[in-house]
Amino acid sequence: MYNETAKNIREGLTADCSKCFGLCCTALNIIASSDFPINKPAGTPCMNLQSDYSCQIHSQLREKGFKGCTVFDCLGAGQVVSQVTFNGQSWRDNPKIGEKMFHVFPIMEQIHEMIAYASEALSYDISSALSDELIEKLKELQKLTKLDADELLSLDLIMYRFSLNELLTAASDSIREITIAKLPGTKKAKDYNHAGADWMGKKIKCKDLRATDFRGAYLIAADMRNTDLRAVNFIGADLRDADFSGADLSTSMFLTQMQINSAKGDVKTKLPSFIQRPSHWIN
Ligand code: SF4
Repeated sequence: MYNETAKNIREGLTADCSKCFGLCCTALNIIASSDFPINKPAGTPCMNLQSDYSCQIHSQLREKGFKGCTVFDCLGAGQVVSQVTFNGQSWRDNPKIGEKMFHVFPIMEQIHEMIAYASEALSYDISSALSDELIEKLKELQKLTKLDADELLSLDLIMYRFSLNELLTAASDSIREITIAKLPGTKKAKDYNHAGADWMGKKIKCKDLRATDFRGAYLIAADMRNTDLRAVNFIGADLRDADFSGADLSTSMFLTQMQINSAKGDVKTKLPSFIQRPSHWIN
């Protein structure tokens, strides 16, 4: 069965900063806000990045106003760009490659995100026809990670995103329909559709929201404490400061580590196996 392999692929998409040349701390621009106390242009190392590419204030990021750094997650793209695309050469030792490396990094990040979604969808109980299409798509995406820097820079990622999105929606709809059929009550499938909804700050604690479609929804600072969110599609939803304390997200679909890092929760929040509990939820 491919779904065990897919689950392993999804769970393996984690950052290994020890194999990365501080790409997120250098390639990306930083704008002063509630998440960052400084401005930093793209391609310039952050003032806290040390010569060994570790962060000087790693254990005090939130206290020092760098909350955004505790939210960011590259899904392992940083080490692949550093060790595979650029074969272990660093922008510091070879400044000529710097610009190219910094442009490739966000492309690889997007490819890894698509691999995460495709492999997660394949870990579900879906039809064999859909599974075959997803396997083909996943293999295609995995091949992209081996391309050289120039090939990566010339990719049309929108095309890849568009075709993948159709498959992810089909997978999520199928799982949600199976769940809805088992739920009590007379609600119809459309009653569970809140794709793109603006639920900012909404108080929905202790509700049963199973099988809801929250694709691209705005759930910023929503109070979702102790909600049942199994089989919910969260792809592209904005979860900043949403409170999931005590909530059940164990089988929520298409959640990313960044979404969870940006939200609130506690030791009782149930998370999917491929999501780590953020340290700021515990301390
Ligand atoms: S504060 Fe640390 S983690 Fe954040 S960008 Fe700077 S070096 Fe990187």
